[in-house]
Amino acid sequence: MNKWVYSFGDGAAEGTAGMRNLLGGKGANLAEMSNIGVPVPPGFTITTEVCTHFTKTGGTYPDELNDQLEAALEKIGRATGRAFGDMKKPLLVSVRSGARVSMPGMMDTVLNLGLNDETVGALAEDAGDERFAYDSYRRFIQMYGDVVMGLEHHDFEAILEGFKDEKNLDLDTDLSAADWQVIIERYKALVSDKLGRPFPQDPRDQLWGAIGAVFGSWMNARAITYRRLHQIPESWGTAVNVQGMVFGNMGDTSATGVAFTRNPSTGENKLYGEFLVNAQGEDVVAGIRTPQAITEEARMESSAPEKPSLETALPEAFKEFQAICTRLENHYREMQDVEFTIERGKLWMLQTRSGKRTAKAALKIAVDLVEEGLIQPEEAVNRVDPASLDQLLHPTIDPSAERNVFATGLPASPGAASGEVVFSSDEAERLAGQGKAVILVRVETSPEDIHGMHASQGILTTRGGMTSHAAVVARGMGKPCVSGAGAIRVDYQAGTFTAAGKTLKAGDVVTIDGANGQVLVGSVPMLKPELSGDFAQLMEWADKVRRMKVRTNAETPADARAAREFGAEGIGLCRTEHMFFDTDRIGAVREMIVADTEAGRRTALDKLLPMQRGDFIELFEIMAGLPVTIRLLDPPLHEFLPKTEEEIAEVAEAIGVSPTKLKRRLDMLTEFNPMLGHRGCRLAVSYPEIAEMQARAIFEAAVESAKRTGSPVRPEIMVPLVGLKAELDIVKERIDAVAKTVSEESGTDISYDVGTMVELPRACLTADKIAETAHFFSFGTNDLTQTTFGISRDDAASFLPTYQQQNIFEVDPFVSIDVEGVGALMKIGVERGRQTRPDIKLGICGEHGGDPASVKFCETVGLDYVSCSPFRVPIARLAAAQAAVAAGKD
Ligand code: PEP
Ligand code: MG
Repeated sequence: MNKWVYSFGDGAAEGTAGMRNLLGGKGANLAEMSNIGVPVPPGFTITTEVCTHFTKTGGTYPDELNDQLEAALEKIGRATGRAFGDMKKPLLVSVRSGARVSMPGMMDTVLNLGLNDETVGALAEDAGDERFAYDSYRRFIQMYGDVVMGLEHHDFEAILEGFKDEKNLDLDTDLSAADWQVIIERYKALVSDKLGRPFPQDPRDQLWGAIGAVFGSWMNARAITYRRLHQIPESWGTAVNVQGMVFGNMGDTSATGVAFTRNPSTGENKLYGEFLVNAQGEDVVAGIRTPQAITEEARMESSAPEKPSLETALPEAFKEFQAICTRLENHYREMQDVEFTIERGKLWMLQTRSGKRTAKAALKIAVDLVEEGLIQPEEAVNRVDPASLDQLLHPTIDPSAERNVFATGLPASPGAASGEVVFSSDEAERLAGQGKAVILVRVETSPEDIHGMHASQGILTTRGGMTSHAAVVARGMGKPCVSGAGAIRVDYQAGTFTAAGKTLKAGDVVTIDGANGQVLVGSVPMLKPELSGDFAQLMEWADKVRRMKVRTNAETPADARAAREFGAEGIGLCRTEHMFFDTDRIGAVREMIVADTEAGRRTALDKLLPMQRGDFIELFEIMAGLPVTIRLLDPPLHEFLPKTEEEIAEVAEAIGVSPTKLKRRLDMLTEFNPMLGHRGCRLAVSYPEIAEMQARAIFEAAVESAKRTGSPVRPEIMVPLVGLKAELDIVKERIDAVAKTVSEESGTDISYDVGTMVELPRACLTADKIAETAHFFSFGTNDLTQTTFGISRDDAASFLPTYQQQNIFEVDPFVSIDVEGVGALMKIGVERGRQTRPDIKLGICGEHGGDPASVKFCETVGLDYVSCSPFRVPIARLAAAQAAVAAGKD
């Protein structure tokens, strides 16, 4: 026979904390508290398996459930000296949902269940308080009517308010027992009127109704949405907890409250919570009465210091409560969030769970728990959500600030920034030069906007997804960015932008919040990032346990330096094209592209060589012997081309042709689908002189920095967008020839590696062949995602949200690796690459390299390193550590 019901209370339980999957979080913890002797009102948990049965069969229960439930009710009865359904000594219960993880959206709680027209009298006699009994009964009808019978909460409220008006009463506390009796009759009439059936009087009908409502709510729309957003499988189900009632509203020695065992915003080791005297559960959270502080210390700092703390109001119960909090913390070795009730001086614990906290508090608590000897450093590493570190590395909006939301886009790059709106990169640079803070607002950005993005505090675009140019570059720069705010219409001509009927103009101040994608009107108070000692300590522990290295994607000295400060162990991707947009070189770049002869191209390349060499020398020196992977020119050339008449005239003059001839050449270079066009290694195949110039710059820089620093540099040259071994062979041959020449010229041996980006499905499938030539692979998962799905990474924002709403994608595949598809290709790439070259170096440099879930996947396929933008380096370090711990446990 299957066991569907688990009892707890009275110093023992059938379940344990380890049975979370079966009993839900609340049920498992109630069992555990009973087991360790914490006073818990006796009760039982109906398992999540019953929920699964209920959902699958369209609302029926397993055969044995009724008998098991009756036996469990009897047990509660024995412990309390009462009986469920008894008219003289009625047992009243609470019914609460409790899934494996806490899940808003489902039916939450019904209190006082078991009350009816008769038992209410017994309760009155028992408590010696009629008013209390009738108040409890009307609360029950209201709660049950609302959450179980589906009536509107406000209909009940209207009855109550109407009655108060009739009688000229202000507060609920002004109502007498007789008043409540009138309300109860009106409530019952409301139920019959609306539903055509009376309010259930049989406690068993009430109980089964509540149980059915909890299980039914697992499949309600709100719960389904919540599960989708938090990736909770439907198959988990919820448990139901039925527990003997204890009353916090039995007079002035009764109370109810909630508390955290440590401060959830700062992490300070101080009890933090609120309670109300003579109140029941929902009163504390409902915000009708001002709750009181638990400790004296907190009372003095509170906004209502005239109200006594629990410490002085009920000192005995407080002492016991404090001791229990310590005991729970020591037992769970974690900060707890607890609920309690004091019934006539006797303390009961109703719930404990690990408490939600800010990133700052999570760090402090994890580090403190190690110092207190409660957990090991490795566990501390696991206790902090890597993504939450973002909150600590960037300025954030003061949580107490008011938000005047103008529009919402994608949270493309974290942090918040305020500034004057500018619509062009040149203007951004000009105003920044005058010391102004600006926010660059563009429909989308292109590589030509790099200088404007650099000059701005933050970037807002109305088109483009999480891997659009704006998003990727902003993350790299560590600047806040909101992308794809599709509701905004930008009018460059008028210098305005509009959303939902409201228009802002250039010079108006806005704030963007890269943490949630909001665009706010005006400036808003910010909190500064704080890289405290706890942060450094946790990262040190993380570094000890992780296996994968963490590199950075960086090309500017500023980014490379920032990344090193964040702990990067080399550069995994230097996108050389970003170096081509500087105002002093874009002219030469354009000259090279539009030249229609090799000689013309070489003349332009000669101008670029010393500049590129200078770039690389600086990067090598900053990285001081750490590996540096430099990628040859990758993007479609149209990104560099002159567009305005003015630019065309300039370039025409530089290369000595007429603007008309130049325009003809530009037309020839136009592509329908540039991302799948003449880019990547295809450029190096058709214009090998470009790759040769870059290789020469890299080798000469390596020789020069070795000379300057005295330590050798071993560059890694990366060829992008390879799909065929033959492509790589052709390019590598050129690189090798340049290496030989530079070696002869300088009289130095040059050691280097040539490898490839793996960013096309064909490269994964033929990795064994490509590895014959490649010394390393770096998975370019931005393009690999784009080419695997056939979804343009720059245009996906227009339909991705719909896809997510309809559950087609659980998460944006450009943010977190699509393990099933893209991941499978990566696995093939890894296996086949290693077949040919067992010691092949394997990394990832797509945006996924800084996404914790993707980092975890990289650990499982055995990559050697991940590479991500500088500000995500700490996140990747922590995620890699957690992945290593998880892999060790498997
Ligand atoms: C990639 O495709 O994953 C990659 C890192 O290259 P890029 O984003 O520059 O195309
Ligand atoms: Mg790519």
